[in-house]
Amino acid sequence: MKAVVCPFCEIVSDHPHETQAGCIEALQAEIIRTRQVLEHVTEPLRPPKITVEEDSSPV
Ligand SMILES: [Zn+2]
Repeated sequence: MKAVVCPFCEIVSDHPHETQAGCIEALQAEIIRTRQVLEHVTEPLRPPKITVEEDSSPV
């Protein structure tokens, strides 16, 4: 499948949208798709564990 990023709405699809209506349609489809993905996520999203290395060397 050929994937292109629409220069107007920046949604990846198989072809760039030629009209604003095409972009809106793609945006709505993207929202539905995202909602379906989120519905399947059962665990809460947690921020990644960040380890800060302490710089103990004297300045
Ligand atoms: Zn578009």
